[in-house]
Amino acid sequence: MRNVAKVRIYPTSEQQIALSKAFGCARWWWNYALSLNNETYKATGKGLSRQGYNDQLPPLKKQFPWLAQCYSQVLQSVSLNLSQAFINFFEGRSKYPNFKSKHGKQSIQYPQHVRLHDGVIKLPKIGEVKVKLHRVFDGQLKTVTVSLSKTGKYYASLLFDDGTDEPEITSQGKAVGIDLGLTHFAITSDGSKFDNPKHLKKHERNLKRKQRKLSRKQKGSKRRAKARRLVARVHERIANTRKDFHHKLSRKLVNENQVIIVETLAVKNMVKNHNLAKAISDCGWSEFTRQLEYKAQKNGKTYLEINRFFPSSKTCHVCLHQVDSLSLEIRSWTCSNCKTHHDRDVNAAINIRDEGLRVLALGTSATAQGGNVRPKRGRKSSVEAVAVELGSPVPLWAG
Ligand SMILES: [Zn+2]
Repeated sequence: MRNVAKVRIYPTSEQQIALSKAFGCARWWWNYALSLNNETYKATGKGLSRQGYNDQLPPLKKQFPWLAQCYSQVLQSVSLNLSQAFINFFEGRSKYPNFKSKHGKQSIQYPQHVRLHDGVIKLPKIGEVKVKLHRVFDGQLKTVTVSLSKTGKYYASLLFDDGTDEPEITSQGKAVGIDLGLTHFAITSDGSKFDNPKHLKKHERNLKRKQRKLSRKQKGSKRRAKARRLVARVHERIANTRKDFHHKLSRKLVNENQVIIVETLAVKNMVKNHNLAKAISDCGWSEFTRQLEYKAQKNGKTYLEINRFFPSSKTCHVCLHQVDSLSLEIRSWTCSNCKTHHDRDVNAAINIRDEGLRVLALGTSATAQGGNVRPKRGRKSSVEAVAVELGSPVPLWAG
């Protein structure tokens, strides 16, 4: 099984210079290869492969001797990452690859040959760098990515392989449906509502203030550079707060359930609606579902995304009666057929769960069939793992 850990590293000032040269070479090669690919595509209708990029390197190193100073596997990793970025783009998983700026986050990757021992990490051509390890890691060290944040901190992301197989995934056990919303971050079929951490708002106000200050500073001045660092630090704090929240919530949901069903987000379509656009791009849903998926996989649990084809909000989960329309501001409604009173989001989450179980029963093995997968309704979930939880875990049906 593969595990990733990110640790802080403390290069000396000499090592920082060596690292910044390596960052520069990797960035230059990424930008060069990207524009070469764009030109090749315009001329021939076909882009370059990873090998196609790598074939360019020997003549370039003759032309630019400073490029030859860079550890060659770092440059080859750039070729790999760029070709992967294009694959992700063409398969609709990500945006078109961007050019890298020297003002952004900097990083380099070592596919192998990094050693870790006694509080130091040994990087090829850089040397032994002091590292802060917060726990012991099992397995063989594979890829290492060294990065420099906009706030001036150095990190190493360590990928370990412990040689064991991933656990077999089963769907026998409690199932949960999750609706990702705007009024609350996530609503479960158990009736729990999870909100973004409250102090996120405070950070966001702080960010606006610092951004205003930055915009008043003169271009190229020292005060402007300082103001820019302060803005970057608030961005970092917001990202950390959000990531921490996503980790805790996904951990809790994976621990408490065997089957996790999420409605896939038609984020692309929704972002076109400008009213919702800002709220959605701030939510970080895709990062959250990514965490749910890999945690489920590591724990032998089933993660399933279902399509937005069926109207999860507008269907009564008790009698399956469908209402014609349900505008966004209606937070609760009564089914005209069976008279059940629904909390809008909890009803949607229950429908998501039931639809997921239906798909599992149809599509996979016998494990999801029969009544044993179906959980008891309204089962309480504990709240310790997450700081903020709103609403009552008891469904609101009236009778
Ligand atoms: Zn009904």
